[in-house]
Amino acid sequence: LANLKHVTLKAEDVANAALFLASDEARLEGKVALITGGASGIGECAAKVFAHHGAKLVIADIQDELGHSVCKSMGQANSEYVHCDVTDESQVKNAVDKAIKAFGKLDIMFNNAGIIGQYEPRIINNKKTDFEHALSVNLTGVFLGIKHAAQVMIPARSGSIISTASICSTIGGTTSHAYTCAKHAVVGLTRNTAVELGQFGIRVNCLSPFLVSTPASRKYLGFDDDGVEKVANSMANLKHVTLKAEDVANAALFLSSDEGRCVSGHNLVIDGGFTIVNPSFN
Ligand code: NAD
Repeated sequence: LANLKHVTLKAEDVANAALFLASDEARLEGKVALITGGASGIGECAAKVFAHHGAKLVIADIQDELGHSVCKSMGQANSEYVHCDVTDESQVKNAVDKAIKAFGKLDIMFNNAGIIGQYEPRIINNKKTDFEHALSVNLTGVFLGIKHAAQVMIPARSGSIISTASICSTIGGTTSHAYTCAKHAVVGLTRNTAVELGQFGIRVNCLSPFLVSTPASRKYLGFDDDGVEKVANSMANLKHVTLKAEDVANAALFLSSDEGRCVSGHNLVIDGGFTIVNPSFN
């Protein structure tokens, strides 16, 4: 009855999900991952977590200097940087080709690049060009990432594709309209492609984080690290923890790893309990 025919769900898979972070054993040994938006914030953190767990990495971004320095900090032998604007199909294809050329395969595609875009709360003041630009990075970029990863994962009969959505994928409110639309659509695209690609042993999932301190969120809110974390913590339901980029990276790690082999079509919400108590954003 399951969509993924190459695996059979066992009690161990449920137990592994519960146990996942309890040990520091390398989870991605021998795997190759491509991370878009890997030069900064959540993507940079995921690159470091994936490398720590043994993955070989291609970092794809438009901030070349930062991207190269992330690779350098991880030891260049197991990582490559490629300039890639996710809105440009030929550049996304080139990034996937780079993974194949450098490391021989692609096991994990993390479509993480995203922007808040021009924030204008009133729909009547939204410019079509701003709306379309935010959609092109946050949605078309994910579409292209899934498409070109699938191109090489289908013949390999395996792969894990993960995209970063946001809590704006499930609730509406005072955020950019285009951002909310794009993130809702990332969940739809995840579900559709999970159904389609399951027959090839490919899993497709997405992540929905709440506010995490990164260069993007600090710029958007006009606060430093501490200020963003205070805002996030004051809004979250769980007050004893502060959501960090590492929490999102660890969720991506689980979905990338063999322990997550039976999870597909899922939107994993990492929000300190925000959406469980807030049906909208005000
Ligand atoms: P960030 O700005 O720190 O990192 C995003 C990276 O994406 C940057 O390195 C940037 O250069 C890159 N990027 C932007 N446009 C690109 C393009 N066209 N092509 C390739 N790369 C591009 O931001 P972040 O907060 O780490 O965001 C990462 C993802 O997490 C985004 O999808 C964002 O929507 C999502 N997210 C962030 C938060 C948060 O609070 N930080 C919350 C929910 C979701």
